[in-house]
Amino acid sequence: MKRAIVMGGSYAGLFAARVLSDYAEDVVVIEPDDIGDDGLGRRTPQRQQLHALLAMGHTQLERWFPGITGEMVKGGARLGEGDDVQFYLDGRLKAPVAGARMLGATRPFLEQRLRGRVAALENVRLIPARVTGLVLRQGRVAGVSTAAGSKASETFEAELTVDAMGRTSPLEDWLVHHGWDQAPVDRMRIDLGYATAAFHRGDELGSTVIAHSSPGPAGDYQPTLTEPGALAAVEGERWSVVLAGYAEHRPGPEREEFLRRMRRCVDPIRTVADSCTMIGDVKTYRFVESRRRVHSRLSRFPGGLIVVGDALASVNPVYGQGLTLAALAANALGAHLRTAPTVEDPAWAYFRLVETVVDAAWQLSTAADLAQPHVTGPYPRGYRVQKWVADRLTEASVRDAAVNARYMGVVNMELPPKALTEPRFLARAARVLLSN
Ligand SMILES: Cc1cc2nc3c(=O)[nH]c(=O)nc-3n(C[C@H](O)[C@H](O)[C@H](O)COP(=O)(O)OP(=O)(O)OC[C@H]3O[C@@H](n4cnc5c(N)ncnc54)[C@H](O)[C@@H]3O)c2cc1C
Repeated sequence: MKRAIVMGGSYAGLFAARVLSDYAEDVVVIEPDDIGDDGLGRRTPQRQQLHALLAMGHTQLERWFPGITGEMVKGGARLGEGDDVQFYLDGRLKAPVAGARMLGATRPFLEQRLRGRVAALENVRLIPARVTGLVLRQGRVAGVSTAAGSKASETFEAELTVDAMGRTSPLEDWLVHHGWDQAPVDRMRIDLGYATAAFHRGDELGSTVIAHSSPGPAGDYQPTLTEPGALAAVEGERWSVVLAGYAEHRPGPEREEFLRRMRRCVDPIRTVADSCTMIGDVKTYRFVESRRRVHSRLSRFPGGLIVVGDALASVNPVYGQGLTLAALAANALGAHLRTAPTVEDPAWAYFRLVETVVDAAWQLSTAADLAQPHVTGPYPRGYRVQKWVADRLTEASVRDAAVNARYMGVVNMELPPKALTEPRFLARAARVLLSN
């Protein structure tokens, strides 16, 4: 290709730009937000919340940006291995997973390194402007129009245009304006609240890098046994601590209340509340619903157009899938381009490919969300049986390292959900439950 355009230069846009740099002479990333020295920007408020990178997301990060983990660790991020990474369920520490690794870094720190790598690519340009509309010609997207402050609006022509404008992407409105249909949307209302705070970090938790605690079947997925939350050792000798809650249990911005809730969490989080000083304010975020756009249900779609990241699917963040989904969508784009398609045609093959990944993430997150009493569906067929089996597997994963390894493989998006239905695995889980 001569030129590809990426609308939006956050996590998904940067990944897409990296992949496109192998296929286009000129890759133009258009992003209006002045990210600033702290890497927070103004238009993506979730950057203030603790972000965990699943194992598959980490693998993709190193695949496309080799050596970036080492670079981050040199800059103060922490890489947790083995016992440094702790998962608790209903307050009980889960069996350790051999070879588990997780990065402790804030989202701005991670994204700034990514941006630096992408900006250094010879054929990628980052343009500070806002996309204001699409240029459509003969059934395909032929480019975009942009605005930047008081500068006259500019038009960029391209063979391929990628929507990476996040959850509130205006793409659907633009398509309707040009006479196309909106992609059907699946939704699940979850009414989630998030709150993140930073603390000075000393050696109070030894080598711990990640501690994550969630409610499970023993407490009927309610915060009765322990508060759900997580902490990560991040750059700048800090702990980043997040608390989550649904409906009337959403955490607020009050510091004292945040500390009180931390003291109802598992040991590591309680210890940080008792021994470390909070830095700055508690930042909150409300996430009302998970949603995904399903392009394969459309009968017509313009050519030369790809959708990635949250613009495609934005799921309950407590399962930490968003960054990994963004990377896997870029991967799907790479796999699609490797087949040398006519990029001016509708990218049905891309959408089919990426939907297999989104399906897996959606299945996992919505199945877990439906366990919440305030979530009212839609329930898939056979939900009660599925939940019964899932509860038993979850219980077995607390007790047995082999069951937990596969369970976490699915949670980390390294294995598809169907890996949890293989007869030999189910038999092992059953033996674990019957033996004690
Ligand atoms: C509270 C919370 C916690 C989360 N925690 C995790 C986690 O632990 N792990 C994880 O993997 N994921 C997590 N996520 C999900 C993750 O934040 C998203 O999946 C990720 O930000 C998606 O990246 P994106 O690039 O698609 O969208 P965004 O990051 O939202 O970026 C969209 C970009 O598009 C730009 N844009 C918008 N309009 C225009 C326009 N007209 N022209 C040009 N550019 C435009 C914006 O300025 C922005 O830079 C969390 C999300 C939330 C809400």
